[in-house]
Amino acid sequence: MPLFLLTNDDGYFSEGIKALREKLRSLGRVITVAPDRNLSGVGHSLTFTQPLRIRRVDEDFWTVIGGTPADCVHFGYYLFLDGRKPDLVCSGINEGPNLGEDITYSGTVSGAMEGRILGIPSIAFSAFGREDVDFSQMAEVAKKVVLKVLERGMPEDTYLNVNIPNLPEEEIKGFMLTCQGRRAYKEKVLKLSDPSGRPLYWITAEEFGWHLEEGTDYWAVYHGYVSITPLQLDLTNYRAMEYFRGSFGL
Ligand code: MN
Repeated sequence: MPLFLLTNDDGYFSEGIKALREKLRSLGRVITVAPDRNLSGVGHSLTFTQPLRIRRVDEDFWTVIGGTPADCVHFGYYLFLDGRKPDLVCSGINEGPNLGEDITYSGTVSGAMEGRILGIPSIAFSAFGREDVDFSQMAEVAKKVVLKVLERGMPEDTYLNVNIPNLPEEEIKGFMLTCQGRRAYKEKVLKLSDPSGRPLYWITAEEFGWHLEEGTDYWAVYHGYVSITPLQLDLTNYRAMEYFRGSFGL
């Protein structure tokens, strides 16, 4: 029976983690450790400057007060699994996509990244769509990916970023292996004011379409495919090695 470690970045109460937990529990044992609040955009932050408290939510299900997705995976592995490696770390299903450069901000993807750092095959799941998302249908798609990975395994240093279009099952065109795309929307800063008239600032983003390059994560979900991007921990830009050779010795 497979053993899973599950987290997310939307909080333990989110529909996405509930649906995925239920689906994974039909396959094996699921240790769920998730933040107590929505931490979307928290990236790969790990809390080591202060202690944290943990509350039990349900059977094999805990929430870390103020903990990030990376904290949750950390606690799941070292505390609740006592250092025993699960077969798979899953993160999600996130409310909203994690595509292109956005994956660097993503707590969802960082949950999977933390799993990979601990030496465990890991998958991040996100919903392409924010309104009327059918998470039970998405979890069904996620299950197919999970089963395939359990069967085939995953190369070293690899984790997967999966984005699922919010479409009825019969309208999903299939799975597509993709590369990380580039986003085409702008961040902007809204200037607001508090009740006393003092300024407040709010970082937000204005979406105006995607860079629809074929083969990218954006392209796949936009065209109704489930996007599967293999990621790696090694961020080295090997192509740039040659460029800088000679500039810094050698
Ligand atoms: Mn999120």
